[in-house]
Amino acid sequence: MLYEYPLQTGKEGFIDITDKVRDAVKQSGVFDGMATVYCPHTTAGVTINENSDPDVVSDLLLALDRTYPDREEFRHSEGNSAAHLKASVIGSSVNVMIDDGKLVLGRWQGIYFTEFDGPRQRRFSVKIIGQPRPERK
Ligand code: ZN
Repeated sequence: MLYEYPLQTGKEGFIDITDKVRDAVKQSGVFDGMATVYCPHTTAGVTINENSDPDVVSDLLLALDRTYPDREEFRHSEGNSAAHLKASVIGSSVNVMIDDGKLVLGRWQGIYFTEFDGPRQRRFSVKIIGQPRPERK
Protein backbone atom coordinates (compact mmCIF):
# COMPACT_ATOMS: atom_id res chain seq x y z
CA MET A 1 0.00 0.00 0.00
CA LEU A 2 1.31 3.43 -1.00
CA TYR A 3 0.19 6.61 0.70
CA GLU A 4 1.06 10.09 -0.60
CA TYR A 5 1.01 13.30 1.40
CA PRO A 6 1.35 16.88 0.11
CA LEU A 7 3.33 19.31 2.20
CA GLN A 8 3.76 23.10 2.02
CA THR A 9 7.18 23.98 3.43
CA GLY A 10 8.87 27.14 4.65
CA LYS A 11 12.33 28.36 3.63
CA GLU A 12 14.17 25.70 5.61
CA GLY A 13 13.26 23.37 8.41
CA PHE A 14 12.43 20.03 9.97
CA ILE A 15 8.71 19.20 9.72
CA ASP A 16 7.44 16.47 12.04
CA ILE A 17 5.49 13.98 9.89
CA THR A 18 5.29 11.17 12.49
CA ASP A 19 1.50 11.46 12.91
CA LYS A 20 0.96 11.21 9.14
CA VAL A 21 3.08 8.06 8.98
CA ARG A 22 1.13 6.63 11.94
CA ASP A 23 -2.11 7.36 10.06
CA ALA A 24 -0.79 5.49 7.02
CA VAL A 25 0.05 2.47 9.19
CA LYS A 26 -3.43 2.57 10.71
CA GLN A 27 -5.13 2.86 7.31
CA SER A 28 -3.08 -0.04 5.94
CA GLY A 29 -4.22 -2.43 8.66
CA VAL A 30 -0.68 -3.85 8.78
CA PHE A 31 0.12 -5.42 12.16
CA ASP A 32 3.62 -6.77 11.53
CA GLY A 33 5.82 -5.22 8.83
CA MET A 34 7.79 -2.22 7.58
CA ALA A 35 7.06 1.36 6.59
CA THR A 36 9.35 3.17 4.16
CA VAL A 37 9.01 6.95 4.21
CA TYR A 38 10.35 8.45 1.00
CA CYS A 39 11.07 12.00 -0.19
CA PRO A 40 11.08 12.35 -4.03
CA HIS A 41 12.93 15.71 -4.07
CA THR A 42 16.60 16.65 -4.56
CA THR A 43 16.80 19.53 -2.06
CA ALA A 44 14.71 17.97 0.73
CA GLY A 45 15.02 14.77 2.72
CA VAL A 46 13.65 12.51 5.43
CA THR A 47 15.27 11.62 8.75
CA ILE A 48 14.56 10.48 12.30
CA ASN A 49 15.59 12.60 15.26
CA GLU A 50 14.48 14.03 18.59
CA ASN A 51 10.92 15.37 18.72
CA SER A 52 10.90 16.44 22.35
CA ASP A 53 13.12 19.54 22.47
CA PRO A 54 12.59 21.73 19.35
CA ASP A 55 16.05 23.26 19.92
CA VAL A 56 17.59 20.01 18.68
CA VAL A 57 16.33 20.37 15.11
CA SER A 58 17.17 24.10 15.03
CA ASP A 59 20.71 23.21 16.19
CA LEU A 60 20.90 20.59 13.41
CA LEU A 61 19.90 23.22 10.83
CA LEU A 62 22.50 25.63 12.18
CA ALA A 63 25.22 22.97 12.10
CA LEU A 64 24.28 21.91 8.56
CA ASP A 65 24.53 25.57 7.45
CA ARG A 66 27.96 25.90 9.03
CA THR A 67 29.22 22.57 7.72
CA TYR A 68 27.84 22.93 4.21
CA PRO A 69 27.80 26.64 3.36
CA ASP A 70 27.09 28.03 -0.09
CA ARG A 71 30.38 28.37 -2.01
CA GLU A 72 31.42 30.65 -4.83
CA GLU A 73 33.11 27.71 -6.60
CA PHE A 74 29.82 25.81 -6.95
CA ARG A 75 28.90 25.51 -10.63
CA HIS A 76 25.24 24.41 -10.54
CA SER A 77 23.37 27.24 -12.29
CA GLU A 78 20.28 27.03 -10.08
CA GLY A 79 22.48 28.30 -7.22
CA ASN A 80 21.26 25.84 -4.61
CA SER A 81 24.09 23.32 -4.41
CA ALA A 82 24.30 23.68 -0.62
CA ALA A 83 20.66 22.51 -0.42
CA HIS A 84 21.42 19.55 -2.71
CA LEU A 85 24.37 18.65 -0.49
CA LYS A 86 22.32 18.80 2.72
CA ALA A 87 19.60 16.67 1.13
CA SER A 88 22.17 13.99 0.26
CA VAL A 89 23.70 14.06 3.73
CA ILE A 90 20.29 13.68 5.39
CA GLY A 91 19.09 11.06 2.90
CA SER A 92 15.84 10.56 1.02
CA SER A 93 14.19 7.76 3.00
CA VAL A 94 13.89 5.99 6.34
CA ASN A 95 12.60 2.53 7.18
CA VAL A 96 10.63 2.01 10.37
CA MET A 97 9.52 -1.36 11.72
CA ILE A 98 5.84 -1.97 12.46
CA ASP A 99 5.10 -4.24 15.39
CA ASP A 100 1.78 -4.83 17.09
CA GLY A 101 0.24 -2.40 14.57
CA LYS A 102 2.50 0.45 15.71
CA LEU A 103 5.66 2.17 14.49
CA VAL A 104 8.71 1.05 16.45
CA LEU A 105 10.25 4.39 17.46
CA GLY A 106 12.22 5.38 20.52
CA ARG A 107 10.55 7.49 23.15
CA TRP A 108 12.21 10.71 21.93
CA GLN A 109 12.18 9.95 18.21
CA GLY A 110 10.08 11.55 15.48
CA ILE A 111 10.12 11.28 11.69
CA TYR A 112 11.00 14.52 9.94
CA PHE A 113 10.65 15.88 6.42
CA THR A 114 13.60 18.24 5.98
CA GLU A 115 13.38 21.27 3.68
CA PHE A 116 16.57 22.97 2.49
CA ASP A 117 15.36 25.10 -0.43
CA GLY A 118 11.83 26.28 0.23
CA PRO A 119 9.27 27.50 0.39
CA ARG A 120 7.89 24.87 -1.98
CA GLN A 121 4.94 22.59 -2.49
CA ARG A 122 6.41 19.19 -1.61
CA ARG A 123 5.19 15.65 -1.07
CA PHE A 124 6.34 12.42 0.51
CA SER A 125 5.29 8.80 0.17
CA VAL A 126 4.81 6.04 2.69
CA LYS A 127 5.01 2.44 1.47
CA ILE A 128 3.75 -0.15 3.92
CA ILE A 129 4.51 -3.84 3.58
CA GLY A 130 3.46 -6.53 6.00
CA GLN A 131 0.85 -8.79 7.44
CA PRO A 132 -2.50 -7.98 9.03
CA ARG A 133 -3.26 -9.01 12.59
CA PRO A 134 -3.37 -12.84 12.71
CA GLU A 135 -6.88 -14.25 13.09
CA ARG A 136 -7.65 -16.05 16.31
CA LYS A 137 -8.60 -19.70 15.94
ZN1 ZN B 1 19.36 22.73 -7.99
